[in-house]
Amino acid sequence: MPPERKRWHFGTKLVHTRPLGRPSGATPTVTPIYTSSTYLHPSSDAMDRAFDEGDLVYSRFGNPTVGALETAVATAEGGRGAVAFGSGMAALHAAILAAGTPRGSTQPSIKRILGAQDLYGATRRLLDEFFGAQGVVIDFCDMSDLAAVERSLHAAPPDLVLLEPISNPLLKVADVTAIAEHTHAVGARLVVDNTIPTPVLLRPIEHGADLVVHSATKYLGGHGDALGGVVVAARQLPLDAVKSYSKLLGAVLGPFDARLISRGVQTLLLRVRQQCTNAQQVATWLQSRPEVARVYYPGLPDHPQHEVAGRLFGGMWGGMVAFDLVEANRAAAHRFMDALDLVLPATTLGDVFSLVSYPVVSSHRDVVPAERERQGIGDGLLRLSIGIEEPEDIIADLEAGLLAV
Ligand SMILES: *Cc1c(COP(=O)(O)O)cnc(C)c1O
Repeated sequence: MPPERKRWHFGTKLVHTRPLGRPSGATPTVTPIYTSSTYLHPSSDAMDRAFDEGDLVYSRFGNPTVGALETAVATAEGGRGAVAFGSGMAALHAAILAAGTPRGSTQPSIKRILGAQDLYGATRRLLDEFFGAQGVVIDFCDMSDLAAVERSLHAAPPDLVLLEPISNPLLKVADVTAIAEHTHAVGARLVVDNTIPTPVLLRPIEHGADLVVHSATKYLGGHGDALGGVVVAARQLPLDAVKSYSKLLGAVLGPFDARLISRGVQTLLLRVRQQCTNAQQVATWLQSRPEVARVYYPGLPDHPQHEVAGRLFGGMWGGMVAFDLVEANRAAAHRFMDALDLVLPATTLGDVFSLVSYPVVSSHRDVVPAERERQGIGDGLLRLSIGIEEPEDIIADLEAGLLAV
């Protein structure tokens, strides 16, 4: 990156990711949607070189519209480079393979993975049912408990550690800086799913992460209209591995979705700022309500990792809020959700509109009740993804829901 661009502030970098300098003729200010599956080169020699150098030979290897998104996200995360995928799950798959590829090798060799116990449901199943089924030993631990992480790492050193800095739905916070140090001390690599904090709150590579993963379906895209995933690598070797697995496995992102997500990234800072301000107001208001037993939000002083979150997230606390109803049963939760009008009961997060989810019937549907209780996910738990609406309207809608309980 040119030095003058390195000095730009975070929000400016998100808006301006086009190549530097004046073009020779008139060119679009925005990277067009290139739908070509293949590319012509000026000569056979040039084509030969293009095969060696990588990208623009065939669209599974690279596409300029997708490349623009990859540059934008790599810049936002402060990484060496990025590779986009057709979904967050495809991105996680490739990131795990790359993190488990030893230096000097081009093949994954994973014997053991240490994951956060409250990883996104499909991620947990990717570890258990996919990698586990191939003989990889999968251990889980509570990543918000640093002593437990250290114990697990030393008891049986893994090849890689996988965590989410803000867990879902209980919004526990992991001390990424300390975990990166401990992970490297046992020779493992750290993979961080940064979907929920977004690079606005946290840039894990600055804290020692080797690979950062996004479900771009969520905050990066931000408008509920595109599915995608991105892996950002801190260094060239794991980046090369991610790229090579992307070419082989072929779960690439298409140019239309890439363009939608790139547009989302340009307003990421504004949206997340507003979502954080709104979420703080909603969390504080929920605490004052007699129908609410407990509120989970890293910005509340009584949150168990409030201090860690303050250190990691630079004074922002995220757009997700969870709470327990006093009346902790399904009928009450359903009455609450059915009375909402503005807050949508849809299974996603990070959109411009506010969303509610009931983990017992959605994300944790397949978890047996005893295990759910052990994780602290009760029948009264509801999770909100706060949008960019005017906060008074979100609160009025939630009030109607609580009154219906
Ligand atoms: C949604 C999500 C994923 C999966 O992403 P998809 O785009 O749905 O494949 C992974 N991790 C987290 C934290 C998510 O919220």
